[in-house]
Amino acid sequence: MRSTQKTLALWFFLIIMAVFLFQAYESKQQKAIADFNFSKFTEAVKAGEVATVTFRQDTSEVVGEMKPEFEKKYNGTHFSIVGNTQDEGYKFLQQHGITPNYERADNGGFFQSLLVNWLPLILIVAMFLFIMRQIQAGGGKAMSFGKSRARLLTEHKNRVTFKEVAGVDEAKEDLQEIVSFLKDPKKYTKLGGRIPKGVLLVGSPGTGKTLLARAVAGEAGVPFFTISGSDFVEMFVGVGASRVRDLFEQGKKNAPCLIFIDEIDAVGRHRGAGMGGGHDEREQTLNQLLVEMDGFESSEGVIMIAATNRPDVLDPALLRPGRFDRRVIVNKPDLKGREQILAVHMRKTPLGPDVDASKIARGTPGFSGADLENLVNEAALVAARSDKKYLEMEDFEKAKDKVTMGAERRSMVISDEDKKVTAYHEAGHTLVGKKLVGLDPIHKVTIIPRGMALGVTQTLPEKESVSLSKSKAENMIAFLFGGRAAEELIFKDITTGAGNDIERATEIARRMVCEWGMSKLGPLAYETRDNPVFMGMGYGNKSKEYSDAKAQEIDTEVEKIIKQGYDISIQILRDHQDALERLTQALLEYETIDGHEVDMLVNGAAVAEIEKYRNAKKDSNAAIMNAAEKKGSGDPVGNTGPVTI
Ligand code: ADP
Ligand code: ZN
Repeated sequence: MRSTQKTLALWFFLIIMAVFLFQAYESKQQKAIADFNFSKFTEAVKAGEVATVTFRQDTSEVVGEMKPEFEKKYNGTHFSIVGNTQDEGYKFLQQHGITPNYERADNGGFFQSLLVNWLPLILIVAMFLFIMRQIQAGGGKAMSFGKSRARLLTEHKNRVTFKEVAGVDEAKEDLQEIVSFLKDPKKYTKLGGRIPKGVLLVGSPGTGKTLLARAVAGEAGVPFFTISGSDFVEMFVGVGASRVRDLFEQGKKNAPCLIFIDEIDAVGRHRGAGMGGGHDEREQTLNQLLVEMDGFESSEGVIMIAATNRPDVLDPALLRPGRFDRRVIVNKPDLKGREQILAVHMRKTPLGPDVDASKIARGTPGFSGADLENLVNEAALVAARSDKKYLEMEDFEKAKDKVTMGAERRSMVISDEDKKVTAYHEAGHTLVGKKLVGLDPIHKVTIIPRGMALGVTQTLPEKESVSLSKSKAENMIAFLFGGRAAEELIFKDITTGAGNDIERATEIARRMVCEWGMSKLGPLAYETRDNPVFMGMGYGNKSKEYSDAKAQEIDTEVEKIIKQGYDISIQILRDHQDALERLTQALLEYETIDGHEVDMLVNGAAVAEIEKYRNAKKDSNAAIMNAAEKKGSGDPVGNTGPVTI
């Protein structure tokens, strides 16, 4: 709002300036005729060369204009002579077909002089008022500065329903009640029930909180107002509070409706807490919010939904009964949820036959709804770049790698020696991963550098696991050491490439001892993890609860686990050195190999067979798409769900 006002003021200023300049220019344009006198004037009138005549009574002047065709003759168009306005003059002009004008004062001149003399002052005063208004925008009398920035999305525009929100069934169920409140508030109040005023949606960014709120409004068919908590927090004191007031005013006017406050933690933070001490303005805004929430009755049909990912920092007053007393958790989607969300967004794109949403879902743990939407979008961009008519699995693979690991760094110059080391390193991980039981299947191995990594071995969980067994933890450590072990075995030398592997292995080993009770030190929690960092209330930390003597024992145990994992790795690679060589050669040749190809190589297939497999796969893909096109279905097969070939 403020920026529009500023622009308005700027335009106003520019227009005034333009008018002023134009006028000055205009007056220059009027070319005066030199040496004009009364007798020349009468001659000209008689000859019919004069177009207009004006008597200026205050200055006893006769001014006028020649007809344009005589401009050359007089070397000018305008004349001005001293004269009077007696009746004879009038009659004389009438006889020659001219009706003179009478003018009391030079209005144009007056206006001009006004502009010249007063404009700067007017502008300064206007600016002053403008600034003053900004400063004391509070107190309700503020013009548009205190107006809320709530945007109104009516039920007609971009209506969203629960159908578009996938994978958050629990939250949808909880919100179903709110939908029915909004649809028919009286049904509930008749029986003496109190309709909740506020619902707090809690969930990390991108989990679809805004989408859910919009869907609630869409399902109930009521207007949806949205404002972000940070919009309340302004530079000028009082603006936030007046915005809150205005927001509620608008809400009541449009009842029944839904007001959505995004990032409520921006205003609703625990009073008196927070980095940098209290913030008067924010507190004032929060107080206003509390007052307004108490002041309105939800029977009027206004329901508020607020979203936050930090419920812990909210002021308890906000969560009291009668305010945001309902809490709906919006979790990051699980495997099934991710698959459903992908399905929602894949509906908008043509899919090839090999696209398998469940496989993509498996490879994207921790992705939020927004991340998944972005993934589909990236995949579409990747496919478009190679002029495809539909999206294939490889496009999703590329998109996923780009999102999770950064873009490929193909331009990075890597020496052949480094490439060879990387290939052995990744082949080592892969082989160890294949030979140990209980680990997630290998999905893809690549030696194309990405982000910080020189190469990557990716695994794909079959299903989401919530717990970790001791044997799996040990095998994971061995798997992580596969890279370093291969380097040592082949080159008798080691590189820095295993830094991250070692870090992760050590972390697992440490947690096995200190948190999960998986060592001979027994099931004792030597370290506990606090809740996440809590702004304004102290920092989260690992707390150590053991003596110095115990610390040594812990270190010994961790070391033992690490050593054991490393030894397993070396043993596996020694026993299957031929497979290690094949994997390495394939990586050097193709740079990226997928899970199936890894299986082939580990089971004894020669590197050359990879080529054959790849060609067969391509042909079969194309054949399916061709068949679909011939059938004239127009839309490529994909959208019905995964097809296995
Ligand atoms: P939040 O408000 O929690 O940060 P948004 O509602 O703004 O998240 O989500 C951003 C986008 O991500 C949405 O517009 C939607 O396209 C997509 N998205 C997020 N969650 C889901 C979901 N559960 N189902 C479908 N799409 C989702
Ligand atoms: Zn590694």
